Amino acid sequence: MTNPIYDTSAPVMVTGATGYVAGWLVARLLEKGFTVHAAVRDPNNTEKLKSLNDLAAQLPGSIQYFKADLLAEGSYAEAMQGCQVVFHTASPFSLSAQNPQKDLIEPAQLGTRNVLEQANRTESVRRVVVTSSCAAIYGDNADLENVEGEQFTESDWNTTSSLTHQPYSYSKTLAEKEAWKIAKAQDRWSLVVINPSLVLGPGISPMATSASFTLIQQFGDGTMKSGMVDIGMGVVDVRDVADAHMAAGFSPSVQGRYITSGYNTSFPKLAEILRSHFGKAFPFPTQTLPKWLVWIVGPFVAENTTRKYVSRNVGLPFVADNSKSIQELGIHYRPLETSLTEMFQQMIDNGLVNAK
Ligand code: NAP
Repeated sequence: MTNPIYDTSAPVMVTGATGYVAGWLVARLLEKGFTVHAAVRDPNNTEKLKSLNDLAAQLPGSIQYFKADLLAEGSYAEAMQGCQVVFHTASPFSLSAQNPQKDLIEPAQLGTRNVLEQANRTESVRRVVVTSSCAAIYGDNADLENVEGEQFTESDWNTTSSLTHQPYSYSKTLAEKEAWKIAKAQDRWSLVVINPSLVLGPGISPMATSASFTLIQQFGDGTMKSGMVDIGMGVVDVRDVADAHMAAGFSPSVQGRYITSGYNTSFPKLAEILRSHFGKAFPFPTQTLPKWLVWIVGPFVAENTTRKYVSRNVGLPFVADNSKSIQELGIHYRPLETSLTEMFQQMIDNGLVNAK
């Protein structure tokens, strides 16, 4: 990484500061002594803000809360005042949405527009970092067949998701495109985009809403005890994602998108790690369901496991090139075992999963 600039005299804004991914980013900022302008939906929810406040009490930096909502125009004006760097992490991460347009697309796309147009109106802003996702790089594992070099890179875009097929991925694609459109229309601030794969590792708060927790919980709560699907995916530690954001925010030379993904792995490999570490105390899946069976019963078990989803993802690998993040952001990815076992241990400690 080229010399980072830590001008700790200017505050730094973080949208969605209550989130899983943002939690560790706020921790890193506080470690460096920044004043964090934390934009949250409910600054009076002391229970939800407790972990952030506990961190601020121990670390050199400080936090000021601002009430803001992605869907309310002008909502981020006060929080952004005086900030040179803006981290836009807020976006709903849910794999099941009743109304994808309202629940996912609007907060992601309109929210990004709202935050970045505020950056245009705020003279102090020099750098905006948007938390996108590998979901904006690819839609289904089958897309790997159509990319050059047999691995996803930063030059790939998700062209296969829609409102009815992988709507979360669609929301992240529309949001990132909106970000680039707004960034390219001005020249005061630069945009850097972080594209994490599935984020794992312990959260700073036990009150997790992120689908990362829902998914890992399902490995240990018996949901998958009769078998798991074989799906390839990328994973990355939440602390490495925070480090990537820090480099993106403060290193002058970084530019463009960054696939932030430590490992190309799969559901069966995650289950194997959990089984070998936590033994037989939890009903981890041992069997992989055949693709034909998932294709037949999937849609009856879970709404989003459509036949199209099964055909285009089950039994297919995910392969992404993370070399740009290593070379330019200086990320040293933690071992996958560390991220997964520390996360699961935290879930045990917080009663999210219970031993048999
Ligand atoms: P999370 O814990 O559920 O955090 C989502 C954050 O967005 C929360 O702070 C939430 O605020 C905020 N938010 C949602 N709707 C909002 C609205 N209408 N107005 C203002 N804030 C709103 O999920 P996460 O996993 O940390 O995700 C954070 C970011 O990382 C998202 O952009 C997500 O797409 C991206 N990402 C996550 C993963 C992953 O595996 N976790 C992977 C790739 C990318 P409240 O506390 O008020 O609900």
